[in-house]
Amino acid sequence: MKDLSDLLLLGDDRLYEISELIEKSELPLVEGWVADLHNVMKEIRTKYRFGRAIAAPQLGIMKRLIYINIDGPIILINPELNNRSDEMFELWDDCMSFPNLYVKVSRHRYLTVKYYDAEWQQKEWTVADDLSELVQHEYDHLNGILATMRAVDEKSFKWRAISS
Ligand SMILES: [Zn+2]
Repeated sequence: MKDLSDLLLLGDDRLYEISELIEKSELPLVEGWVADLHNVMKEIRTKYRFGRAIAAPQLGIMKRLIYINIDGPIILINPELNNRSDEMFELWDDCMSFPNLYVKVSRHRYLTVKYYDAEWQQKEWTVADDLSELVQHEYDHLNGILATMRAVDEKSFKWRAISS
């Protein structure tokens, strides 16, 4: 099983790659990938005290898979973002791949994400505010885009002290 040492960090070329669509025939593999994502997120939470979601490519699994765990696990396979609101909002974003850095980004206030769940059922989920930002952040990872590339301006970076 993958652990914290498998987490790709800022500067790793793979974080800038576009991940592949998951085929229905690959569904049996998803459970193992999710177990890896879950395990690494658990270790990050213990070490850094943050982390609500992780994208498969952050572990070098170059597949369009997002694992969210807030009140319980949510698995997004091949997500698509629709109905992005015109209204935007700014916030300081963080990322497990650069845990010491905050980046000020601008995100859509609302959107609807269409995806397949772990049973390959197509679902839609409309999210707002912090969940909307979370989904946009993780979706960006699938396209090789990091929050650093979304910085609002040149001063949109802030060091974060981590006490563990
Ligand atoms: Zn991230």
